[in-house]
Amino acid sequence: MRLFDRAVVRVLPAVPRAVVRRVAAPYIAGPTLDDARRVVADLNAEGMLATVDVLGEEVSRPEEAEAIAGAYHDALRAIQEDGLAANVSVKLTALGLKVDEALCRSLTGRVLSDAEARGIFVRIDMEDSSTTGETLELYRSLRGEGHEGVGVVLQAALRRTLEDIEALAPLRPSVRLCKGIYLEPSSIAFQEFEVIRKSFVACLDALLEAGCRVAVATHDEWLLERALERVDGLDDTAYELQMLLGVRVERARELAAAGHPLRIYVPYGRRWYEYSLRRLQENPKVAGYVARDLLGRIVPGR
Ligand SMILES: Cc1cc2nc3c(=O)[nH]c(=O)nc-3n(C[C@H](O)[C@H](O)[C@H](O)COP(=O)(O)OP(=O)(O)OC[C@H]3O[C@@H](n4cnc5c(N)ncnc54)[C@H](O)[C@@H]3O)c2cc1C
Repeated sequence: MRLFDRAVVRVLPAVPRAVVRRVAAPYIAGPTLDDARRVVADLNAEGMLATVDVLGEEVSRPEEAEAIAGAYHDALRAIQEDGLAANVSVKLTALGLKVDEALCRSLTGRVLSDAEARGIFVRIDMEDSSTTGETLELYRSLRGEGHEGVGVVLQAALRRTLEDIEALAPLRPSVRLCKGIYLEPSSIAFQEFEVIRKSFVACLDALLEAGCRVAVATHDEWLLERALERVDGLDDTAYELQMLLGVRVERARELAAAGHPLRIYVPYGRRWYEYSLRRLQENPKVAGYVARDLLGRIVPGR
């Protein structure tokens, strides 16, 4: 990333919310469940699968967690009613992890039971490192209770991940492997781009060797190539590729057309701000987009 772009990433929180919203619009289906239904149906029509995510994280009151759980029940009903090829992703902090752990467990268990009754898979997203241990522990206890239709996410940037894979391997978990978006200290996370790439490949190899179902979530062409070499000849049920809505759209289409199971992460909802900031941070052209939009506001009709 150029120096100018890095500088913009640092000041992004100071960019007006309306600008963030407009520039980040391609990353989000829209504010309502109907928006998500429409976007998922379009993706399905193009041969792509989807993961529906209700936007929201770090709620501060139990009622907010309950409202988000309610939104998931609505999303599950919609997926079933419309016959969509989609599953859902949940964030534990949105279901109250930091407010009341027992409530979070109960809400997550209820979402999972509802999803299982409808034959829909649930992925637990991975958030920052203050939640890693609790997230994996909750995953283990859900599996211990007999839930099978649930998976986790592991972050290649974390130094602990290879050990986590070894510890989880007897459960043959379904794992989404990603680099990890949260800024973490070097004591627990790799910092250099190439080191994170190497860790990603090592984690992918370990997961495949352990017979886990792997969802390779990356837009990094170098990593995609490494992953494609490794999944060559594997059954469709053993792996999938995942990308985010609005990122490398043409490449996603190409991979799906080549016959790979390709799933797009589709967030929707009114709590769009934090997610949008993270996506903008990762957009290599962020400075240009934000500058153009700001300029458009200062010089209307430009
Ligand atoms: C389906 C999915 C689910 C995820 N779930 C989680 C999760 O639960 N927890 C977590 O910590 N992280 C999650 N992530 C984010 C992930 O950890 C990375 O932060 C993110 O994918 C960027 O890393 P990358 O591997 O795509 O490589 P990068 O090197 O960041 O990107 C490779 C290339 O992709 C393009 N690109 C990437 N991002 C953008 C963007 N926003 N706009 C435009 N172009 C872009 C650029 O061309 C860039 O050079 C998820 C990612 C995906 C795809």
